[in-house]
Amino acid sequence: TTSRPARTTTRSADLFARASAVTPGGVNSPVRAFGAVGGTPRFITRGAGARITDVDGNEYVDLVGSWGPMLLGHAHPQVQEAVLAAVSRGTSYGTPTEPEVLLAEEIVSRTPVERVRFTSSGTEATMSAIRLARGFTGRDVVVKFAGCYHGHVDALLASAGSGLATFAIPGTPGVPESATDLTLVLPYNDRAAVEKVFAEHGDRIACLITEATPGNMGIVPPEPGFNAFLAETCRAHGALFVSDEVMTGFRATRLGGWGLDGAHEGWVPDLMTFGKVMGGGLPAAAFGGRADVMEHLAPSGPVYQAGTLAGNPVATTAGLTTLQLATDEVYAHVDRVATVIREGASAALTQAGVPHVAQSAGTMFSVFLLAGDAPVAPVRDFDGASRQHLPAYAAFFHAMLEAGVHLPPSAYEVWFCSAAHDDRAVQQVLDALPAAARAAAAT
Ligand code: PMP
Repeated sequence: TTSRPARTTTRSADLFARASAVTPGGVNSPVRAFGAVGGTPRFITRGAGARITDVDGNEYVDLVGSWGPMLLGHAHPQVQEAVLAAVSRGTSYGTPTEPEVLLAEEIVSRTPVERVRFTSSGTEATMSAIRLARGFTGRDVVVKFAGCYHGHVDALLASAGSGLATFAIPGTPGVPESATDLTLVLPYNDRAAVEKVFAEHGDRIACLITEATPGNMGIVPPEPGFNAFLAETCRAHGALFVSDEVMTGFRATRLGGWGLDGAHEGWVPDLMTFGKVMGGGLPAAAFGGRADVMEHLAPSGPVYQAGTLAGNPVATTAGLTTLQLATDEVYAHVDRVATVIREGASAALTQAGVPHVAQSAGTMFSVFLLAGDAPVAPVRDFDGASRQHLPAYAAFFHAMLEAGVHLPPSAYEVWFCSAAHDDRAVQQVLDALPAAARAAAAT
């Protein structure tokens, strides 16, 4: 291979220094700061298809995809056209508008939900779903799984306390114990732990919330029948089953994470949350579910929930256009690309002698890099995901970045592909993998 000149990143470094003087850590969402991999985050000025370009003019094949939304790739011409047309008519009125009806109809037609309410972020969606579950059931306790992320909702930023069936402790300063002492945190894929807390606290549990297929500790699929078991356990105890599809919705499959097992195992969530793809790269998210539960929301019912920009016409237009363009062929393409890159990464790591586990859920996948002597076994919970060798991922990440491939700057994330990842983009990723795998092996 020819040696390429090292990338210049001075403009990103300058901007990062200025950003750090006016914004905590220089970023508006922590994981962007490269804290887990070291170095300076790249400031991106434009994207087109599978590629993004930074302020120094470096181009990258993008495997972050704005952390999920960009299913069609960047600056899709039809999405842009629809958004520009919407903007030219005005950006926000604080009244009902047509695009929000169309997007709600699209979501209702693609998922098991009967009613949907829009919010501006996934965090708001899960926060509101939990409030509604508590309001509907008249109960207070919430059950979640370690390693599942549901946004920065106080009650859900909790770590497991000592012992399995004890209440949680705050996962961050600033969250009072009173916000998490009604939250139970369990190990993922652990039926016995679920049975135990429902046996002990079943009549106090408002809801259990889970990612349809977890993607925030890397991809950790539910074991066969696990979601059906959760839905059944909730039903038996009068609790609501909340499936968080902010990441997987309209991404893992055309039907989201529910399309992976729910559709054929026959379970239906009482409430679901959505975000990312359904906003088409603009701020839009939603929660929805059973009509009788959703009708408990204001103004139909007593549970209050609201948003100045909720259902914003520009954001819902971006989301609607994205979903309309997300055909079966799009999902088939993203699935193929994801498979090629996942298998390529696995082959390169094997070749370099790096023990690893690659796991996928529909079009989503992630790769766990392990220490040299670690046993290789499927990752089934957060403890397993935490056995990653983080220095290996940091070395791997930077070698890929230097070769023009932008992976997520964290070992716990999905590698997001898009409909715009063509053969050339995929080949660039495949070409970069062997050297990155050797860099990981050297750690
Ligand atoms: N739920 C899940 C499953 C997510 O992946 C995320 C974001 N990564 C959220 C909720 C929170 O969404 P937002 O960042 O839009 O608040």
